[in-house]
Amino acid sequence: MKTNIKVELNSRNEKRIVFTIKGINVALANAIRRVILSEIPTMAVDEVVIFENDSVLHDEILAHRIALVPLRTDINTLYSLKNLKELSEQEVVLTLDIEAVESGTIVYSSDLKSTDPIVRPVYDNIPIVKLEKGQKLLLEAYARYGLGKDHAKWQAACVSAYKYKPIIDIDEEKCLACGECAKVCPKSIIKVNDVAHVEEEISCTLCKLCEKACPVGAIRVHWDDTTFIFKVETNGSIPVEHLPTLAVHILRIRLLDLKNSIISTVKQLEEEESA
Ligand code: SF4
Ligand code: SF4
Repeated sequence: MKTNIKVELNSRNEKRIVFTIKGINVALANAIRRVILSEIPTMAVDEVVIFENDSVLHDEILAHRIALVPLRTDINTLYSLKNLKELSEQEVVLTLDIEAVESGTIVYSSDLKSTDPIVRPVYDNIPIVKLEKGQKLLLEAYARYGLGKDHAKWQAACVSAYKYKPIIDIDEEKCLACGECAKVCPKSIIKVNDVAHVEEEISCTLCKLCEKACPVGAIRVHWDDTTFIFKVETNGSIPVEHLPTLAVHILRIRLLDLKNSIISTVKQLEEEESA
């Protein structure tokens, strides 16, 4: 059986990637979307030991704020994974040791010093707490791997969404060039000269307002249900272009686990039957 899957990059910057996958169905597209959001292991602070806290924040609130600081995750460790259990023992310690020399000193994420050159705060300028002159903060934070489905602090993707590839057909014979479709389009992608035409079809939200507004039924909006346009954004813990590939890698590990479990169950049944 032939499979003909193609991936096209539509746009990319440091935080966001837009790409098209051709030749898959909605079940696979949704599996990739969900794994990106909730199944890619990411480092986050999981335990905080506070030795001294003179700040106005209670220990629990302080620990919660520190846990939500995104940490860079080592993608080479993730790509070399054969089993998710391999990550359970890994831990990185970050320390925070500061005494305010003047009132209004803000403690930032950059004050968290990591023992690992890779696993450290993604951004240096996230405020954690404000200290008055002479107040001290001394703590150790333990970062561990976890999954977004267990807590948002382990979610590397802020956005993971897809839509079908839009197709907009305009019947030039019928079109009156009245411009009604262009007026209602929320994305302003319909232009009308002698007839209506669409620029940047990929931006269409499939709302079908143009179809409803057309007095002569000259415009038809539909979609290709084997082609999906994905939009993915990262909080910086994993570079955005690695989220889709890591999602497929993790999905593969999960499916291999499932396959092995089915094989051992069938084997057990066969043994019981032949006994
Ligand atoms: S379906 Fe909606 S977004 Fe797409 S072209 Fe029509 S009005 Fe614009
Ligand atoms: S609303 Fe219909 S007739 Fe008017 S410009 Fe658009 S497609 Fe043409």
